[in-house]
Amino acid sequence: MSRKKEDTTLASESKPVIQSDAYASMLSRFHAAAEKIGLAPEEIEILSRPAEIHIAYLPVAMDDGQVRVFEAYRVIHSRALGPGKGGIRYAPEVNMREVMALAAWMTWKCAVVNIPYGGAKGGITCEPKKMSVGELERLTRAYTRAMSEVFGPDKDIPAPDMGTSAREMAWIVDEYSRLNKGNFIPAVVTGKPLELGGSKGRVEATGRGVTTVILQALQRLGRRPEGLTAAVQGFGNVGSITAKYLSQSGIRVIAISDKSGGFYNENGILIHQAIQYRDTHGGSLEGFKGGDRITNEQLLTLETDILVPAAIEDQITPQNAPHIKAWLIAEGANGPTTAEADPILNEKGITVIPDILANAGGVIVSYYEWVQNRRGHYYTESEVQERADNTIKQAFDDVFARAAAHRVSLREAAYLLAVERVVKALRMHGKY
Ligand code: NAD
Repeated sequence: MSRKKEDTTLASESKPVIQSDAYASMLSRFHAAAEKIGLAPEEIEILSRPAEIHIAYLPVAMDDGQVRVFEAYRVIHSRALGPGKGGIRYAPEVNMREVMALAAWMTWKCAVVNIPYGGAKGGITCEPKKMSVGELERLTRAYTRAMSEVFGPDKDIPAPDMGTSAREMAWIVDEYSRLNKGNFIPAVVTGKPLELGGSKGRVEATGRGVTTVILQALQRLGRRPEGLTAAVQGFGNVGSITAKYLSQSGIRVIAISDKSGGFYNENGILIHQAIQYRDTHGGSLEGFKGGDRITNEQLLTLETDILVPAAIEDQITPQNAPHIKAWLIAEGANGPTTAEADPILNEKGITVIPDILANAGGVIVSYYEWVQNRRGHYYTESEVQERADNTIKQAFDDVFARAAAHRVSLREAAYLLAVERVVKALRMHGKY
């Protein structure tokens, strides 16, 4: 079966729009895997679309007395393997197609690492850095009320993503529990503060997982970490923690960046200093003195061994892919590489550890958090880390073996594994 590019848009859209967005990138990789596996047309149809899309317009009283209305989404891509699972993003660029892509990636990610969840994602179009704590709390509670029938420990379990953190998860637990007659229901979200049933090791989990798969890949490629260099785009939860762990592993992090731009230091950026600077300067690296200024675009094409895009989607494109000098890319962000850039990176012989594997450490520990909430029994940090390290290493080995056996990239192998697992479950649910 051959699929034309036009097929990468939703059939319900009257005119096919050929655009390079995150959803189109997700679909083109899914379709390639579906074709190789030989999925039935109706299976492709089901998994090409979200199962549910929920949109709400949330009126929120701002501190100046005005009422602003925010557009908010929750998308469930699939519940074939279990309840919906995925973060909530607060950012000005949030839009429905982006949330749709992020929800589908969660389906594939949970399947690759073999945890019993489907895929979901939420988002609110807002500028959290320009809002007060009170405004953010009212917005988050309004979102929880609007999605109270969508969320649930056995239905759909949100978590933090860009622009949200444990603080927002605490508000969701509180509001959701109030809506449920005051029953304390911590398992409705993960990434909570420890005091409200969060898991030890959750904050570091994604960056730790990114580092673990990088070290696994180096071992397979016969390279030692000591003396290698890395450039990390994005200095939030994923980027900064990955940078910290990489430097602890003997890898010199020569460049970091955030929305305000990048910093280069050939002797290695002192990551703990950069983290301290960010935490005392409103969450931004603007004005940091630990390196020479560079742009985000320059960071991506630096002379370095390892590149970790850990900010947003669509950063590695057909325009800059030919100039990338790193030989190992680990996708800390979701969807940092467009589908059109994949063949260019493959031809250059660059090993790409795909997002649905590389950044799965977060959702793995989220799963343990949910298990702990439901058992009422809590693990030590080293118990969580050991389980999470083993799970992501196993997933890496599965993907690596599949790639070797089928002579395909790690991304293609990860999609093959994920799509197969989801479709197996879908078939067992039966036809209705
Ligand atoms: P975050 O909000 O903590 O940090 C985002 C970082 O990216 C910030 O440093 C921000 O300044 C930077 N950034 C934003 N726009 C940028 C731009 N245009 N250019 C360069 N930098 C930019 O978010 P996070 O949780 O670290 O998430 C980062 C990525 O990782 C997202 O794609 C997210 O979906 C993905 N992810 C996060 C987790 C998690 O556990 N937090 C898990 C898996 C995947």
